[in-house]
Amino acid sequence: MKKQSCSVCGSAVYFDNSTCLHCGTGLAYLRPSRAIVATDSQGRHTDASGTSWHRCANASLSGCNWLAAESGGQCFSCDLTRTRPNDNDAKGLSQFHAAEQAKRHLVAELDELGLPIVTRAEDPDGGLAFDLLSSVKEKVLIGHANGLITINLAESDDAYRERMRAQLDEPYRTMLGHFRHEVGHYFETVLVFSDDSRTREARRLFGDDTKDYQAEIDRHYSEGAPADWNERFISKYATMHPYEDFAESFAHYLHICDTLDTAREFGLIASAPGRRSFREVVENEWLPLAIALNQVNRSMGKEDLYPFILSPVVIDKLEFVHGLRTESATAGG
Ligand SMILES: [Zn+2]
Ligand SMILES: [Zn+2]
Ligand SMILES: [Zn+2]
Repeated sequence: MKKQSCSVCGSAVYFDNSTCLHCGTGLAYLRPSRAIVATDSQGRHTDASGTSWHRCANASLSGCNWLAAESGGQCFSCDLTRTRPNDNDAKGLSQFHAAEQAKRHLVAELDELGLPIVTRAEDPDGGLAFDLLSSVKEKVLIGHANGLITINLAESDDAYRERMRAQLDEPYRTMLGHFRHEVGHYFETVLVFSDDSRTREARRLFGDDTKDYQAEIDRHYSEGAPADWNERFISKYATMHPYEDFAESFAHYLHICDTLDTAREFGLIASAPGRRSFREVVENEWLPLAIALNQVNRSMGKEDLYPFILSPVVIDKLEFVHGLRTESATAGG
């Protein structure tokens, strides 16, 4: 994430801040400028072109700190949510906060990377939308279908998520990770399968996506991942079906780009020189940084920050994801 400062006092402020802790100025995120800006006592901000923006209507409901175009309206990120827990579901609503926070983080990164979001209003059949569902009264399965992403809000509960992580033998499980994986399914549909040559290249790298999905899930849960899975896949889950391999690769591309971006902003690594392949970014910047951050975590008695191995085949898959960006001039940025 980008380093930002309060426009009134110059103190450092962060992506989720809604007030400057130093001078008390109201703050909000203005999506078109991808920046945290100052608001007045009414929660308003006037941008450089003279347009007025208003604090999102969900500020108290979900802790949203984004600006909306209409007074009393929702911001772009909140508008992407089609379903949320009902007002009587206190547990679901408390979990809703963390999910919306992860979604705002996701949307900001997609904007940063030049990965275009088409909304449900623009395309009612395939546009992007989210059902953020409480599992207090019903079972919720995380998934994607035709642009609609379903998130199980119980995943924002640390104890629940850790139990699932251990049960499924995963090295990493986060709310942000779920969003990044599921949106990978969306982008494979809109950016890969809409184009014949990209579809052919995806099949060469990830395998034949026409394989029966349910049969492959059944195989995965009865046989598990092949013994040599880490030579060709980023995770055991990615071995299940070519769709899952793409979504896992897409999520890792976002993990790596965002973490590198943050590290650059805070001076942990040098600014990125011009156009490079993603392989060069991984080899020269990501691997040394990830090794260092894993050791930093171990110094604090924590698990590795990035508990994954990137084989040459996996890096080819990340390169393919990198090529889907409309503005891929600044690799890894
Ligand atoms: Zn300030
Ligand atoms: Zn909002
Ligand atoms: Zn998936």
